[in-house]
Amino acid sequence: MEQSTSYSKPDHTPQPVMTTSVIQFDALKSPASSQPTETRWQVEDIMALFALPFNDLLFQAHSVHRQHFDPNAVQVSTLLSIKTGGCSEDCGYCPQAARYHTEVENEPLMALDEVLAAAKAAKDSGASRFCMGAAWRGPKQKDLEPVLKMISEVKAMGLQTCATLGMLKDGQAEQLKAAGLDFYNHNLDTAPEFYGDVITTRTYQDRLDTLDRVRSVAINVCSGGIIGMGESRAQRAGLLAQLANMEQPPESVPINLLTQVEGTPLHGTDPLDPLEFVRTIAAARITMPNSFVRLSAGRQSMGDAVQALCFMAGANSIFYGEKLLTTGNPEVEADQALFTKLGLTKI
Ligand code: SF4
Repeated sequence: MEQSTSYSKPDHTPQPVMTTSVIQFDALKSPASSQPTETRWQVEDIMALFALPFNDLLFQAHSVHRQHFDPNAVQVSTLLSIKTGGCSEDCGYCPQAARYHTEVENEPLMALDEVLAAAKAAKDSGASRFCMGAAWRGPKQKDLEPVLKMISEVKAMGLQTCATLGMLKDGQAEQLKAAGLDFYNHNLDTAPEFYGDVITTRTYQDRLDTLDRVRSVAINVCSGGIIGMGESRAQRAGLLAQLANMEQPPESVPINLLTQVEGTPLHGTDPLDPLEFVRTIAAARITMPNSFVRLSAGRQSMGDAVQALCFMAGANSIFYGEKLLTTGNPEVEADQALFTKLGLTKI
């Protein structure tokens, strides 16, 4: 269903209210922005979604989901860390930052044949998209060239391609596009107001600039954030507002639950109530009705029941495979069993 070549601009028409707890979507058409007024989501309006009775929120999100997607089909991506650890950035959740003492071992850029073998295995186990992640602040030209080769060869295998390589400089998005890249992942991570509590080595604007570069060459945008880092509900809503208010919201919106890794500054953060995570998925679905909402990191700690609620709330994409960059991910067999139990099919 999700085709980078056939993507059309989303319809931002506010969705009909389908609950007894009426959210007045007319209130969303607020002024004071360069964005078209109908695309504006105010943080307080998203907060009002969060505040709905749980059943009303889920019913509304699921109704929006059914209007835009097959509710029983889930897109499946596999993520491979092609260069691990030793990163100069200070993202407070990340075990790959060189400055934190974690168990992650640095590994140089993988060889092309190893990447292609992993891509084939991913395809054989049902993945439709293969994401390649490198722990860099941004790629140097000498690093980018072998990655371009990986992208073109993975694409030639019939997989959609995605890369997450850090910040892009002028001209790099063009090279990625020419190599056949379908998606570029670059998360906003959190709301602007909380961002400085998590990362200091790059700014929020740096992230938006990279997303602009990706968008300007018509590579599909994959951008979301991490929930459970100690942010407030208003800041969760603020992240969704940033994403939903983009002139063209991301085609893919990964919503990660913080995986706490010993040695990182965010280790020891109070765990988030799983139902608040489900509410975040639901609010993402309502505010970005045409985007694939991806249940990403943190699935291992959720169990089947919370994941099922997330699918009900509008999540329709997952990462599949045993490892998610450097942290664990439910094993392939467990995912297959869950899909069977829930009657889900893979896109
Ligand atoms: S999240 Fe990415 S940029 Fe941040 S420290 Fe980890 S690898 Fe580096």
